Amino acid sequence: MKIVLPAGEIEAPPEFRHFYLMDEDGIVKYPAPVLRRKASPVSRITPDIEALIQRMMASLKWWNGLGIAAPQVGVPLRLFIMAPPDQPMRVILNPRIIERSQEQVADLEGCLSIPALYGKVARARAIVLKGLNRHGKPIQLTLEGVAARIAQHEIDHLDGILFIDRADPATLFWSDPTPKEEEMV
Ligand code: ZN
Repeated sequence: MKIVLPAGEIEAPPEFRHFYLMDEDGIVKYPAPVLRRKASPVSRITPDIEALIQRMMASLKWWNGLGIAAPQVGVPLRLFIMAPPDQPMRVILNPRIIERSQEQVADLEGCLSIPALYGKVARARAIVLKGLNRHGKPIQLTLEGVAARIAQHEIDHLDGILFIDRADPATLFWSDPTPKEEEMV
């Protein structure tokens, strides 16, 4: 199981390779092509979209994750769910970042689609986000800290960008992703 980085490749240790083959969690794993596609806007909230949201929530809970984007369950639509610690879970459709803080913070990230790999990614400390809520109403959110990090990671997914594209390669490491021991987006 090779992971391709901007500057080279790394190999998953044998003890973690089975995570890339599992499907009972409903999550599409690297290197599935859908993870590299640019997702399309959601035009209308249909029963299919409601079902997709339910499916994404189930996968997120399976791993006790912090966030999930629709391409991670195989659907190339611009929709993600974020569940920052001690904050309500939010569903956001067609998100757009309209403002980013100059200040960046480097912190640890993982990804449900790239199980067992972690590394530090520099992201804007705060962002202002526009989009629609799950009822199709326009929303604007100011996010900071972990919530801002999750939203930036998930919006990257909608553009086919993965955290390994942005991570500082010197900080990458492998660790068991068993639920509740690690936080993954
Ligand atoms: Zn991810």
